[in-house]
Amino acid sequence: MLDAAPLAPPDWLKLLLWAADYYQHPVGEVVAAALPAPLREGRPAIGRQARCLRLTEAGRRALAELPARAHRQHALLSALATADLQVPAGEASGFDAGVLRRALEQAWVVEADPGSPIAPMNKAPALTAAQQEALDALQAAPAGFSVSLLEGVTGSGKTELYLRLAEQALRAGRQVLILVPEIGLTPQLSARFAERFGAAVASFHSGMTEVERNDAWLAVAARRVQVLVGTRSAVFAPFADLGLVVVDEEHDTSYKQQEGFRYHARDLALLRAKDCAAMAVLGSATPALESLAHARSGRYRHVRLEQRISGRAPPPAQLIDLNVHPARHGLTEPLLAAIERHLHAGGQCLLFINRRGYAPTLLCEVCHWVAPCPRCDARMTLHRARGRLVCHHCGHEEVPPRACPSCGGQRLLPVGEGAERVEDALRNRFPGRRVERFDAERLRGGDKLERLLDEVRARKVEILVGTQMLAKGHDFPALSLVGVVNADQALFSADFRAMERLGQLLTQVAGRAGRIEQAPHPAEVLIQTREPQNPQLRLLLGSGYGALAEQLLAERAEAGLPPSGHLALLRAEAAHMTEAQVFLRAARDLALALPGAGSEVQLLGPAPAPMERRDGRYRAQLLLQAGKRAPLHRLLPGWLDQIEALPEARRLRWSLDVDPIDLF
Ligand code: ADP
Ligand code: ZN
Ligand code: ZN
Repeated sequence: MLDAAPLAPPDWLKLLLWAADYYQHPVGEVVAAALPAPLREGRPAIGRQARCLRLTEAGRRALAELPARAHRQHALLSALATADLQVPAGEASGFDAGVLRRALEQAWVVEADPGSPIAPMNKAPALTAAQQEALDALQAAPAGFSVSLLEGVTGSGKTELYLRLAEQALRAGRQVLILVPEIGLTPQLSARFAERFGAAVASFHSGMTEVERNDAWLAVAARRVQVLVGTRSAVFAPFADLGLVVVDEEHDTSYKQQEGFRYHARDLALLRAKDCAAMAVLGSATPALESLAHARSGRYRHVRLEQRISGRAPPPAQLIDLNVHPARHGLTEPLLAAIERHLHAGGQCLLFINRRGYAPTLLCEVCHWVAPCPRCDARMTLHRARGRLVCHHCGHEEVPPRACPSCGGQRLLPVGEGAERVEDALRNRFPGRRVERFDAERLRGGDKLERLLDEVRARKVEILVGTQMLAKGHDFPALSLVGVVNADQALFSADFRAMERLGQLLTQVAGRAGRIEQAPHPAEVLIQTREPQNPQLRLLLGSGYGALAEQLLAERAEAGLPPSGHLALLRAEAAHMTEAQVFLRAARDLALALPGAGSEVQLLGPAPAPMERRDGRYRAQLLLQAGKRAPLHRLLPGWLDQIEALPEARRLRWSLDVDPIDLF
C-alpha cells in the first residue's frame, strides 16, 4: 500500500474518497476494493515486464492464408504486420493468451528486443452515413468533460464509434477506458481494439489472476497501456491521463456491485471522467431509465443511431400464447416448427431461458410436497446432469430424494423448465443437430466460452440454448431465429424495475437475430407467454423499448421512484426476525430525530425482505425514499454514526445500500 499511493494519480484517490462518502462505506474497504491484491497486501509495485513481439515470415504467410473466421489469430497477426508490439505480460494483453501461445509455438511470432513501442493504426472500415452522423454529434461535444448517451439499436455499429473516439483520444496522447458488463465480452472487444491500435490495449476482469490484474494495473499507471477494456472494477484503474470513458451496455445491472462496497461503476465512471476532463459515452440499445431521464433533461447529450449496419430493422417479435399452445419441456409446437424451418434453411436458432438447471421445482405428485431449501424461503432447483438439488440463493446442495420425504410416494416430478431441460428436449427432437447450452457454470475458466463462440460463428453449432450470458453484446451472423422460452417471471414480479429489465432483455435478445444481410431466412423472434394481453408487453412489441421507457418513466414519477426519486436501503439479517426488526426500528427512530426525516426523506418499514429467510438468516429492511438527493445525503452520515453506536448493531449483520437496484 505504501508504495502504491504515489503510483496512482491524485484524482484516483479523490474518486475513492468521494465514493466512500457517497456510498457511506469505510474508506479502508473502498481502497482495498480498488487495489489489486498484490498491492493491497503490500507487495512491491513491480509489474512483470512487457514482451516485445515481432511477426516472422511464416507469420506473414499465415496471415494471408488464415480463414476469415479465425478472427482472433487475425487480430494478433495483423496488429503485428507493420510494427512490433509491446505486449504486457500474461492475459493482461488485449490478445487471447491461447492465441498468443499458439502463435509463438508456430513461430509466427517471436520475442524480440524492444524497439519502437508505437504500433500503427490498422485500417478502419468506412462509416455508414448513420454512423458518421452519430460520430459528428458525439465529437461536437465541448472539449473537456461531457457525457453523451449513445442510444443505438442492436447491430448499429456502436463499437466502431467507440474505436473512432478512442483513436481521437490516443492521438491527443490520452488514455481510454472501455467498461463492459461481463467477462465474456472482454476478449471480443479487446481483440477489436488491439487489432486497431496494437499492443497498447489490456484487459481487466475477475477471470484474470491477481498477478495478471496487477500487471495491467501497473501498466496503466505507467502509461504502457493506453486502452483498458474491463468489467466493473476497471473503473478504479489508475489512469495517468484519461481522455475517454465508454460504458458499453450502460443499462446492465452488473455494473452495480451487489455486496460489500456497493458502488455503481457507471456512476463512478462519470465522476472519473469529470475529474479528468474526459469525454464520457454511455452506449446502449436499451438505456437505463436513469440515463434516459438525464438525456431528456439535457444533462447528457443524446445521440441516436437508429439504423442497423445491415440496413434491416430488427425482426418484429411475435407472441405464442401458452394458454392456447401447451408447452412440453418448455417448448410449444409453433416454436418447434419454427426451429425446424430455420434449421432447414441453414439458419441458427437461439433459445433463451433465464433459468439454470433442469427444473425449478421437484414436486410429489401424491401430496404436493416440493423440495425446499433448508436454509432459505425458496425451492431447490433440480440439476439433473449433476444429480443434485441446488438452491440458487445460498448454494446449498443435496442429493434428490428417491421417495417423497413427506408421504413416501414414489412419483417425484420435475416441474417447470430450466436451460438443461430445454437442451435435452431439443436434442431429442432434433437428433443429429448440434445443440449447445451456454451456462456460466459450465463455461467458467480458461477460454471455453471463447472457443464455443468461435464454433458458433463458424456455424458448427446449430441450436444455442442460453441464459443471461447470451443476451448481450454478442454478434452471431447466422442467427435467424430467437425464441424466448418464457417471459412471464418478470410480468409477475414485485420488483419495480422488473418491466424495465424485461423490456431491455427482450430487446437485447431479439437484437441477436438477423444482424447480417446474408442470413438465409427472414429472421424471426418468438416469445412464449401466458400473458399475451399484458399491455406493457404489447407496447414493447408494438412500439419498441423507447415507448415502454416513456411509460415507465411516467409511472416512476408518479410513485416517486428512481429516477424521479432517490432510495437508500438499510438491510439487516439475524438469527431471528425479531432481532432484525428491533434493530431497524431503533434505526428508524434515530432517523426520525434528524432534520428532513419524515418530510423530505420518507421512511418505509421496517418490513421483512421479499425473501424473508436466506442462507439460514432472517432478513428485513428499512427503505429511505426522497424526492431530492441532497436531503437524503445530508441525513445519511450522521445517521450511520448513530446506528454504529447502537448496541443492537453489534449483534447482527447490517448494511446500507445507496441507490439500490434491487430491493431483495
Ligand atoms: P452494436 O454494438 O451497435 O450492436 P456492433 O458494433 O457489434 O453493433 O456492429 C455490428 C456489426 O457491424 C459488427 O459485425 C461490425 O463489425 C459491423 N460493422 C460496424 N460498423 C461497420 C462499418 N462501418 N462497415 C461495415 N461493417 C461494420
Ligand atoms: Zn408426497
Ligand atoms: Zn438456500
